Amino acid sequence: MRTTRLDRGLAGVLVVLVPACGGAPVEPSRERAASLSSVRYEIAIDDRLEQMTETLCSEGPWTDRLVSIHAEARTRLASARVVHADGTEDPIDVGSSGPLTMRTRELAPDDCVRVRLDLGSSGGMSGCMRTSALVMCATSAFVLAAEPWRTNARHRVRLVLPEGASMSPIFGEDEEGLYLDERSHRYVGYAAFGALTRREIPVPGGCTTVVLPASSPLAASPHFVPWVARAGRASAMITGLATARGATITAIPMPGDTPVLFGMAGRGTRPSVIALVAEDPPASLETDWTLVHELAHLATPYVPSEDAWLSEGLATYYQEVNRARAGMQSAEQAWREIDDGLRRGARDGTGVTLRIESREMQASRAYTRVYWGGAAIVMSIDVALRTRGLGTLDARIARVADRHDSTLSAEALLAAFDDDDRVVRDIVASWLDTATFPDLREAYAALGLTRREDGTLGFEGDPSLRDAIMNPPVEIASNGTCPAIPPQDPGHIE
Ligand SMILES: [Zn+2]
Repeated sequence: MRTTRLDRGLAGVLVVLVPACGGAPVEPSRERAASLSSVRYEIAIDDRLEQMTETLCSEGPWTDRLVSIHAEARTRLASARVVHADGTEDPIDVGSSGPLTMRTRELAPDDCVRVRLDLGSSGGMSGCMRTSALVMCATSAFVLAAEPWRTNARHRVRLVLPEGASMSPIFGEDEEGLYLDERSHRYVGYAAFGALTRREIPVPGGCTTVVLPASSPLAASPHFVPWVARAGRASAMITGLATARGATITAIPMPGDTPVLFGMAGRGTRPSVIALVAEDPPASLETDWTLVHELAHLATPYVPSEDAWLSEGLATYYQEVNRARAGMQSAEQAWREIDDGLRRGARDGTGVTLRIESREMQASRAYTRVYWGGAAIVMSIDVALRTRGLGTLDARIARVADRHDSTLSAEALLAAFDDDDRVVRDIVASWLDTATFPDLREAYAALGLTRREDGTLGFEGDPSLRDAIMNPPVEIASNGTCPAIPPQDPGHIE
């Protein structure tokens, strides 16, 4: 075992003993104000990357409780104990359903809580995923939050990892070492553990970090760095600054020829994106849409999943627009991709309204309807704003660009996009509660998009609106200067 980050760890614990406090929850003492002490995390992983031992100690009086950010952690729980300063242990109650919930208010300040979590089982994207080289876990599988939160706290993190292993950098780092903050409690992120290599890639306004298994052929692919650099540049095409800056992108190599099988954007102390990428990718990886889509999500505040039509509609529209703006595809190709997606969206779905389809999407799997139904509304908004002389959707998004660490319902985000005239909300209101796919005839006419006899998309008339949408709306920031990380031998410690 090797410690990659050192902090004060468990040193300095006091020798005060208190009775164990397992069993039924105890009513909080009303005389004592809620503690808001920071927590120290030690995250240790065994040599086989199958079990995590997470030890949490308090910097002062314990807060009321420790809560996992998702019920997923419960399915992985092997044990949960209070570790007293003298080394003795007692069980701690974790509740019976939902997120793990451990009452900590009655613990002594020098008591610690230790949970062992099984990383061996799967659980999909809300759980863990293994390859021969790494294990990737959503933070919902292992991050515990001390509640109530102190919103400006930096909770120190110490990693104890097997020789040669590292963790993808999804937490913050300052002069005292690693930390996580309340953003890692509010949002799910994606962390990889294993023999990883890391690169810093310049993007407009900063750098993005990309992580992948050091031994994978993907690391040596001539298409790998250009893929990240291009998608990172495309992510700047709304406001001029890349949403990829400061983010960690973990590439998980997969067999097969599909350039990118899957992607997911997570948030937290640092944004974290995962992408399942062909281990020997074709050149088309460099212009693939998936990472552009994921990074477009980070251009707005987090929208809860029941309003997926809006977050996915924005990301789906901009996966095509941003690729054209960044030169990853021609403007005409972008319009063809949009047209093709809209037609697929119109054919998909279960016959319910878009609002209901969004809420039921995980069960019904009507992703195409929700993503492209949302994109249809988003495109209608953009075209309406532009044709009415009310600016652009880019400018409306720029209003909230610095709020990507907050959560807004679709209604609140649309209100932030809107002026007093409610143009944006009125367009949404006309399509959200109908089972009919949005009617885009007016938008197509304004854009000069026509249907040819053979069914393909035609371009007619004045191209100025089409061109305005597919050209960058602002000056794009210059790339950041990134620290050079020397190439590493496969398996070498980072
Ligand atoms: Zn998406």
